Amino acid sequence: MASVEEKTIFEKIISREIPADIVFENDVAVIIRDINPQAPVHALIIPKRRIDRIEAAQDGDAELLGKLLIMARDFAKSHNLTGFRLVVNNGRQAGETVPHLHIHLLSGRPMAWPPG
Ligand code: AMP
Repeated sequence: MASVEEKTIFEKIISREIPADIVFENDVAVIIRDINPQAPVHALIIPKRRIDRIEAAQDGDAELLGKLLIMARDFAKSHNLTGFRLVVNNGRQAGETVPHLHIHLLSGRPMAWPPG
C-alpha cells in the first residue's frame, strides 16, 4: 500500500496528471468511470482531499463524507438509476487497492447478497 507521501492514482487523476473518464466534478470531489467496471454502471466518487480510508476519517470529516453520499444520490438520479449499490472497501482484506477513500457506485445488473 502506498505511503501517505506518495500520490495516489486518484490524486493524479484529480490534478490531471493522468487521464480518466471524469463524469462530474465540484469543489469537493470528482466522479469517474471505473477503468475495470464490475457492472454496466461503475462510478467512483472520490474526494479531492485525500483520506486514506474510512478508518482514517476524523469526526470533522463528517460533512465531507455526507457530501459524497449526496453526490452518489445525485449521480444515480441524473442517470435514472433506481437500483444501485454503494461500496467502500476498507483495507486489503476487504478489497481496497487504492489508499484514497472512494465510494463505488454500481448499477445496471442484478446484485447478489452477500457480496463476495
Ligand atoms: P478499491 O479496490 O476499492 O480500492 O477500488 C479501486 C478502484 O479503482 C478499482 O475498482 C479500480 O478498477 C479503479 N481504478 C484504478 N485505477 C483507475 C484509473 N486509472 N481510472 C479509473 N479507475 C481506476
